[in-house]
Amino acid sequence: MSHGKFGTAINCMDGRVQLPVTDWMKRQLHLDYIDMITEPGPDKVVAGGQSTEIETIKTKAIISAKAHGSKIIVIAGHDDCAGNPVDKAQHCAQIQKSVRVIHSWNLPFDKVIGLWINKDWDIEIIDSFEK
Ligand SMILES: [Zn+2]
Repeated sequence: MSHGKFGTAINCMDGRVQLPVTDWMKRQLHLDYIDMITEPGPDKVVAGGQSTEIETIKTKAIISAKAHGSKIIVIAGHDDCAGNPVDKAQHCAQIQKSVRVIHSWNLPFDKVIGLWINKDWDIEIIDSFEK
């Protein structure tokens, strides 16, 4: 059995962003394990993708919440994203919208956080919603 606190991340499939997000969440949010839901350009998908794509992500988030008891979910966008090659301002707008979309799913998460991973692979909080 797994002991410890789980968190959930909707993150890019880009191999450069897995560890920055996992490390930041463990350190800043005091979590032990991060369930990673990956997608190319996830901020674009959650903010305005096709409903089937969004449903797939939502289904995975539900598994993380129900099976692992995750209470915190993060959506992250990042610099130099091949799946979503827009400027930072547009990423940030999508991240903000994604936070609202995820909140509207009405899942048992106490906290929804939108993150930006900058060109130095440092994490910036763009938006957050707490129950
Ligand atoms: Zn990417």
